[in-house]
Amino acid sequence: MNLILLGGPGAGKGTQAKKLIEKYQIPQVSTGDILREAVKEGTPLGKKAKEFMDAGQLVPDEVVIGIVEERLKQPDCQKGFILDGFPRTVPQAEALDQVLAKMNSGIDHVISIEVDEEELVTRLTGRRTCRNCGQMYHIKFNPPKQEGVCDKCGGELYQRDDDNEATVRSRLATYNQATKPLVDYYAGKGLLRTIPGAGQIDDIFNKICSILGQ
Ligand code: ADP
Ligand code: ADP
Ligand code: ZN
Repeated sequence: MNLILLGGPGAGKGTQAKKLIEKYQIPQVSTGDILREAVKEGTPLGKKAKEFMDAGQLVPDEVVIGIVEERLKQPDCQKGFILDGFPRTVPQAEALDQVLAKMNSGIDHVISIEVDEEELVTRLTGRRTCRNCGQMYHIKFNPPKQEGVCDKCGGELYQRDDDNEATVRSRLATYNQATKPLVDYYAGKGLLRTIPGAGQIDDIFNKICSILGQ
């Protein structure tokens, strides 16, 4: 099963992806996670990406397309994958179609998680992320059992550099301009399903699973 999770920054894509990995035993491919790892390691990719990420802008298409193409060829993606945060532009979506076509594969489902803009700001500015395993929490909506400590692995929770209000606003503007057109792109292909992203994390998860029908 090849799945794309769409939705604004903070819509809950990563949170749902982590639950889908467990249920369906397929990997999550998050371009944000891959880029943050490269920044942390100080690789040439990380050096190039950091400025864009800090400004709430998109990393150039050719850079992320190359990353995803390489990732999808790995053996663990052969039985399926969950794309989270990619594609984010129409050229990325077109490139993805071509990459998958070359592999005799394609996208099975696109699920768009819809959340109001002000709610996205509240979610992102209160988000905390595990430095070790990447699990997300929210200081009010989904707090860890012990403040600052990951429930899953005991790792330290931190606030991402780009989860401050000013950068969040610019990420939202980028989303509206560059990423929203993907809703029409996938609706046109008959692949799009939209779900409201307000409500309990588990309820949203159940809706996604019923769409996936397995
Ligand atoms: P995305 O990957 O789409 O940017 P995340 O999954 O990281 O979004 O979620 C953003 C923030 O919102 C996190 O702090 C997360 O704990 C919180 N969150 C996720 N789903 C919900 C929900 N249904 N209700 C309230 N908060 C949520
Ligand atoms: P969010 O939690 O907002 O969904 P991500 O972790 O997916 O954030 O992405 C963080 C940043 O990484 C983005 O603001 C952008 O700079 C960069 N990035 C991630 N995915 C892409 C992509 N597909 N295309 C371009 N830039 C990307
Ligand atoms: Zn952790």
